[in-house]
Amino acid sequence: MGIENAISVMNSGKLHRYNTEEGEISITSQLEVLFSKWQGAKYCLACTSGGVAIQLALRSSGVKPGDKVLANAFTLAPVPGAIENVGAKAVLIDINDNFHIDLNDLELKAKSSGSKFLLLSHMRGHMTNMNKLVNLCNSLNIKIIEDCAHTMGAKWAGKRSGNFGVVSAFSTQTYKHINSGEGGFLTTDNDEIIAKAIIHSGSYMLYGRHASSPSENIFDQVKLETANFSGRMDNLRSSVLIPQLEELDKKVTQWNKLYNVLNDNLKKQNGIFFPNRDSDEYFVGSSIQFRIDSLNNEQIKSFINNCKARGVELKWFGDEKPVAYTSRYDSWKYLDNIPRLANTLRILAKTFDMRIPLTFTVQDCNIISKIIIEELQKVQN
Ligand SMILES: *Cc1c(COP(=O)(O)O)cnc(C)c1O
Repeated sequence: MGIENAISVMNSGKLHRYNTEEGEISITSQLEVLFSKWQGAKYCLACTSGGVAIQLALRSSGVKPGDKVLANAFTLAPVPGAIENVGAKAVLIDINDNFHIDLNDLELKAKSSGSKFLLLSHMRGHMTNMNKLVNLCNSLNIKIIEDCAHTMGAKWAGKRSGNFGVVSAFSTQTYKHINSGEGGFLTTDNDEIIAKAIIHSGSYMLYGRHASSPSENIFDQVKLETANFSGRMDNLRSSVLIPQLEELDKKVTQWNKLYNVLNDNLKKQNGIFFPNRDSDEYFVGSSIQFRIDSLNNEQIKSFINNCKARGVELKWFGDEKPVAYTSRYDSWKYLDNIPRLANTLRILAKTFDMRIPLTFTVQDCNIISKIIIEELQKVQN
């Protein structure tokens, strides 16, 4: 389906989202309407990447250069990068053993910094208690911007992740839940935020061609004051995302099935620690994280190498030098203030991570768990 759609877009030559006939709704606009309906948000804007969606979410919700933005320290590099891009200052918050933002540290740093914004990453799909978080942020008059790169499809107490803050960002990059190579979505219920985000994304004065958008008078209030940062999604990528959206719920079920096989096998082994999952948390098990506190760095390196030699690729968040993806906040040296966050450092030092591609079968997951347990026992002896 995706391939046929892509060929048809290429045959039409209309790859640009604003290359439409009178009255025609572009494929990108159609995708935005479909995603906003699926997500249960009023509006959606498709962007060039998840990082761009975060940047536009920050700008459109009122973050200005020099403003402080609270953010959990366990996240991926595009998050502090988006804050930097806006000229704002990241105030990093510690995490707890469940990989969640530490609400006490959040309250403390919100008060000491005076920040009015929280950019919350549901990192690796672990959602904190959203009722508590929203209540705390409301009491501190803080706007929540959700980074749902790992929680497209996840819910807290039946409500989709991405519907708790004023605006949210998603990624459609290859390693996320739907795949257009690169891409991202911004969703919101707020008329002014979506109008600004559309203009920031590079709509020129063609915003009227967005089907997922507020009335003209909202644009009239912001269109001349809002800079064009050129971050539009194109019709080719949109055309491959539409059929994937239809498959997403089925994929989530399959991810969770595979996750549960790995989790059930591995948690039987002494010394492997899994975070708590609240019964209100409906997560998407597209990757798995666990901690092994008893291993020292030498043992960890042998364990990873030996697993890799048998075809099991584990990522470790504790390496002194960032390898491949950077999720170690202390490697983002361009930040003004790099605090010492004792729990984040302690937890990441012993945390392993594995992606669960849907090409894996239940049998693969059984073999993978067996290899991990055998290699762990070897380095422990
Ligand atoms: C992937 C990711 C993003 C956005 O990534 P892009 O590559 O820009 O689409 C943002 N936050 C987290 C936590 C991510 O993993």
